[in-house]
Amino acid sequence: MPELPELEALSERMTEVLEGHALGGIDVHGFSALKTFEINPKDLEGIVLGGISRRGKYLDMSLSPYRILFHLSQGGRVDIETPPKSTKPRGSVVRFRFDGAPSILIKEFGTERKAAWWVLRAGDDGPLEKLGPEPFDEAYEELVMTGADRRQLHTFLRDQRTVAGIGRGFADDILHAAMLSPLAKLASLDEAARRTLVEQTHKVLIEATERERERTGGLPAKMGDRFTIHNHYEDPCPRCGTKLEHVSYESREVVYCPACQTGGKILADRRMSRLLK
Ligand SMILES: [Zn+2]
Repeated sequence: MPELPELEALSERMTEVLEGHALGGIDVHGFSALKTFEINPKDLEGIVLGGISRRGKYLDMSLSPYRILFHLSQGGRVDIETPPKSTKPRGSVVRFRFDGAPSILIKEFGTERKAAWWVLRAGDDGPLEKLGPEPFDEAYEELVMTGADRRQLHTFLRDQRTVAGIGRGFADDILHAAMLSPLAKLASLDEAARRTLVEQTHKVLIEATERERERTGGLPAKMGDRFTIHNHYEDPCPRCGTKLEHVSYESREVVYCPACQTGGKILADRRMSRLLK
């Protein structure tokens, strides 16, 4: 799933080629992905795109007095079509055509938690209302430094209402960089560990965004290996060489280094322990 770094860099690439171009038309290919009904997407045709920004895992196209938000979720991807196409490839959700500029095609490769989009008035935050602060907001730093959250840190980081933009991939990498157990709780961390968590959240996301800026075009189905330890179960830890372990849940896994993060302890595999009950 694309997270903050992929979406931040994508918003920059899209802004570069689309800013100042009028929206020529919207071709709706999959109707269930459009989450709003009040505004007809056709009403936006001819409006000049002010820019594209990211908030959490949403991209926000400014088309004053409207805005279009989209969320790629698990399997949503983006083609920047140069030259623009008029095909309707498998899985295509919507195509935004711009006058004298590339088209943007949103596609869906997933079956659950699908890509979605919203047509809103400029002042209407829609699904953004529920989001917590950005990782680079002071509010995130304050939350980590003073909060008493009792959920596992991995859950805390992935909850978009707590902090917006981090998913399971960068949650693994941030906790590895901070040398914290994915099952530790914010409430139990001392001040130094909290400071490290803030710093490593920033460092991991900044470095990943820098790497993403080398990508060209949209976001392909296979985005390549963007992670230090996520998806690297059983590989050697890049810091200490210990074999990376994981905890499996039904639809995801948490990867960690026992030497760097859990004092050598192997965490119980949730799926296995449930089967053994
Ligand atoms: Zn290690």
